[in-house]
Amino acid sequence: MEEAVSALKRQGAKITSQRLAILRLLQGRRDHPSAECVYQELKGEFPTISFATIYSTTQLLAQAELIQILTVDNKRVHFDPNPEPHAHYHCIHCGRIYDIPLNERTVGEILQHTDFQVDQIQIYLYGACPECLKGLTQ
Ligand SMILES: [Zn+2]
Ligand SMILES: [Zn+2]
Repeated sequence: MEEAVSALKRQGAKITSQRLAILRLLQGRRDHPSAECVYQELKGEFPTISFATIYSTTQLLAQAELIQILTVDNKRVHFDPNPEPHAHYHCIHCGRIYDIPLNERTVGEILQHTDFQVDQIQIYLYGACPECLKGLTQ
C-alpha cells in the first residue's frame, strides 16, 4: 500500500481519501471489478464519490503500473491489480472474467514476431465458461 502511494506521489498525483479508498479496494482483488462495482462498494463510505473520480484515479493507477485497465468486455471497463502476465477469458453468458495463466515461453513466442517495443500485452478470449457450458448442455 505504501509503495503504491509513493508511486502515485511520484507522478505528482494528489492523494485524497477517495483515491486511497479506490486503491485499497483494488489491491489484491482477483475478480476484476468494474467501475460500477467500485462505485457501489464505495458510495456507502463516500456518498460524494463520482464515476469521474473513479476513472481519473484508475487512469493514474494504470499509469503508475499498479493496475491494468481491461477492455475485454465491450460494455464496461474492468480493473486488474494482478501484475503477473496473464490472459483474460470473458464468458459471454455469465459475464465473468477469468484469468488464464500465460507462461514466459508463450509471451516470448508472441514477442519474437515483432520489432516493436511492447509495453503491455492484453490477450482476450471469449466463449462459455465451464459452469455456463453445463447449463447450456443440460
Ligand atoms: Zn459463464
Ligand atoms: Zn486478470
